[in-house]
Amino acid sequence: MPSMQLDAIIVGAGFAGIGAAIQLKRSGFDNFVVLDREDDLGGTWYVNHYPGLTVDVPTTTYSYFFEPNPNWSRLFSTGAEIKQYADNVADKYDVRRHIRFNACAESAQWDEEDNLWRVTLADGDTLVARYLITATGFLSQPFTPEIPGIHSFEGTVIHTAQWDDSYEPANRKVGIIGTGATAVQLIPELAKDAADLTVYQRTAIYVVPKIDIPFSARAQRIFARFPLTQRAIRVVTDFVYEVLVDWGILHYSRFPAGNKAAAYLSKVWRFATIRDKELRRKLTPDYDFGCKRPTFSNKFYRAFTKPNVHLQTSGIDHIEADGIVANDGSKAVIDTLVLATGFDLWEANFPAIEVVGRGGRNLGKWWRETRFQAYQGVSVPYFPNFLSLASPYAFLGLNFFNSMEYQMRHMDRLFGELKQRGATTFEITEAANTRYLDHMTELLGTSLFTLGNCASSRSYYFNPSGEATLLRPMTTHEALREASTYPVSDYRIS
Ligand code: NAP
Repeated sequence: MPSMQLDAIIVGAGFAGIGAAIQLKRSGFDNFVVLDREDDLGGTWYVNHYPGLTVDVPTTTYSYFFEPNPNWSRLFSTGAEIKQYADNVADKYDVRRHIRFNACAESAQWDEEDNLWRVTLADGDTLVARYLITATGFLSQPFTPEIPGIHSFEGTVIHTAQWDDSYEPANRKVGIIGTGATAVQLIPELAKDAADLTVYQRTAIYVVPKIDIPFSARAQRIFARFPLTQRAIRVVTDFVYEVLVDWGILHYSRFPAGNKAAAYLSKVWRFATIRDKELRRKLTPDYDFGCKRPTFSNKFYRAFTKPNVHLQTSGIDHIEADGIVANDGSKAVIDTLVLATGFDLWEANFPAIEVVGRGGRNLGKWWRETRFQAYQGVSVPYFPNFLSLASPYAFLGLNFFNSMEYQMRHMDRLFGELKQRGATTFEITEAANTRYLDHMTELLGTSLFTLGNCASSRSYYFNPSGEATLLRPMTTHEALREASTYPVSDYRIS
C-alpha cells in the first residue's frame, strides 16, 4: 500500500467541491485534497467574468443553507460578489489549505486489490485515496462549434468562458454567436459601446423580466444581526423557484397553464420593449416555456432596438477572415468574434475525467452503452467509494445550492453509517440503482420534457439520445427527504 494514501480526493474547487470538503470535515476526515485545474477557487464563478455577469437566481436562495451571506448587495448579485462568497466560505471552513491549484485530474482508476482510487494528473503525478468525489460541475468545458471557416477568422476571438478583461468593445465591429443565458447578459453590455453588433441566434430563448432590488447597508446590518430576516426572504425566493420547477416542469401534466402564462409574460415583455413586429417574431421561441433554460433580463430585448444592434436568424453559412456570412447571403464584416456558444455538456462532462471502476467498468462508456444513470444523482454500481456530484439526475432545476444541500446530506448519512460500522468501503447495489432509474423514468413521464413541445428547443436538459437525464425530477423538499432517509441497505458496505 502506498505511504501517501489520502482519505479522499475531491476533483473541483467550485461550490460543489467546497461543499463536499465541508461535509468531509463534518464527517471527521481531514486527510484529503481538493484538486482544481485553475489557479484559484470558485469554479464557474472564477472562470466566468464576462461583462454583465450576474446570477439569475436570487442570492438569498443562491447560497449554502448553512451559510447565508448578509452582505449581498442586491437580490441578483454580480459574479464578482459570488466569487467573493466562495472565497469567504472556503476560508471560514478552512477548505483552502486542502486545495491543490493547477492540478488537473485526468483519470481515476479503482484498484481492486488495495481498495483505493488512483488519480492521475496531467503532470503525470498519481495520488491515491480511499474515496473519490468528482465535483466537476455541468458547465465547465467551453464549447466552440466547428463552423466552416471559423479558424480562418483573423480578428479577435473570445469565448465568454475565457473572457479577456482588457478587451474594449468601443468602436469595434462585433459578431456574437449564441443567445443562451450568457449572451442574454453580455449582449446589452456590448451593445452599449460597440460600433456594430450582429447577434447570430439559432434558437430563440424565453426572457422574462428580472425583479431585482438592491440591499441597502441598513438591510445588510439587519440580515447580519437578525439572520431570521434573511431566512424569511429565502423561504419566499426558494418557494417561488420551487413552484416554477415543480409546476412548470415536473407536474406539467397537471399545470400546463403555468407554462403558457410564463410564455405569455415573455411575449408581453417583447411587446412592451420592441415596436418592430418582425423583430418580435424572430425573438419568439417555437417550443414550450421551460424546455430550455429560460432567463431573466430587463435589458436583452431592449438591446435589439438600438441602431447599432442587428439580429441575424438565417443561420451561419461560413466564417471568413474578416466576417460572418449568413445563410441568406449577407455578410457582416467584423473585427471581433464572440463565442457565447456555451459548454460541451454531454460529451465532455459525463464524466469530466475518465473514471474506471470495478471490473474495468468505464463510467463514460457504460453510461453511453446503457443509459445515463446515477442513484440519487451521486452513486453508480461498480464504482466503490465514488461519489459523482455532477451526475445524471443530480441537478434540482434552477438552484445549484439546493442540489448541493441534498448531496451533503447524502454524504452525511453514508459516511455516518460507515463510521458506525467501522467500515471503509461502500458501493451502491445494482438493484437499488435500477429501482432508482425506473423511478426517475416514471417521474419524467408526466413532466414537461415528455409531454411538452420541446423538439425544436435544442436544450442541454436532453442527452444525445433524447432523454431528459440532467435534472432530478423532484422538488428540493423531496430530494432532501430522500437524502436523509434512503435505506442504507441500498449500499453494500464493508
Ligand atoms: P448555452 O445556454 O448552451 O447557449 C449556447 C448558445 O450558443 C445557444 O444559443 C446555442 O444555440 C448557440 N450555439 C451553439 N453552437 C452554435 C452553432 N453552431 N451555431 C449557432 N449557434 C450556436 O450556453 P450559455 O449561454 O453559456 O449558458 C449555459 C448555462 O450557464 C445556462 O443555461 C445557465 O445554466 C448558466 N448560466 C447561468 C447564469 C446565471 O446567471 N446563473 C448566467 C450565464 C449562464 P442553440 O440554442 O440553437 O443550440
